[in-house]
Amino acid sequence: MTSIMIGDLKINVIKKKIKNLHLSVHPPDGWVRITAPDTMKDEAIRSFAISKLSWIKKQRAKFQAQERQPEREFVSGESYYYQGHHYLLNVIYTNKKQRVEIDGYKNINLYIRKGATKERRGKVMTEWYRNQLKSQIPPLIEKWEKRMGVKVDSWGVKLMKTRWGTCNPKARRIWVNLELAKKSPRCLEYIIVHEMVHLLERLHNKKFVSYMDQFFPNWRSVKKELNG
Ligand SMILES: [Zn+2]
Repeated sequence: MTSIMIGDLKINVIKKKIKNLHLSVHPPDGWVRITAPDTMKDEAIRSFAISKLSWIKKQRAKFQAQERQPEREFVSGESYYYQGHHYLLNVIYTNKKQRVEIDGYKNINLYIRKGATKERRGKVMTEWYRNQLKSQIPPLIEKWEKRMGVKVDSWGVKLMKTRWGTCNPKARRIWVNLELAKKSPRCLEYIIVHEMVHLLERLHNKKFVSYMDQFFPNWRSVKKELNG
């Protein structure tokens, strides 16, 4: 198999004893394949691909959107992130307390009533993420209160669409995005430090950046990891 590049799009090319070109885009990330007659020149394949570029881009966008937000069913075999690691979900029926447990390095076990709806399974998972995150936060706030000489009066966890955290400097209150339960602990710490720096400087200005450099020197790479 060979490949051709069109800009930064890589297309796998397979030549076979066939009559017509076949173009296809595949999950999970929208990789592209062209199957071409073995007599066809690379340049002809390239022009064909270019003529189909807008269709290819549309298909790729579809797969990439699905990959970013897969429809969650909370059934065995789905993959979930927890504290920056990837786990496979095991659904286990129980008559005892419904709960979630990490099982070794590979699995998250969801213990649930037989016949529980998707919504119910999702709720048990979400509450577990929320409780895990809530137990991670106080030691971090305490650590950074000492180092930064500030005081957080209250904090909370909520699901936010566009931000990882927020700070109300006047009320000395910070909110942390529930999604951070899925990210590595250094991402959570970076967000907490960022929000707590707002207790020293409200705006994202030079002063703010110099505080970040002082307290959390590798914040740029953690930020990249978080948004990457
Ligand atoms: Zn900020």
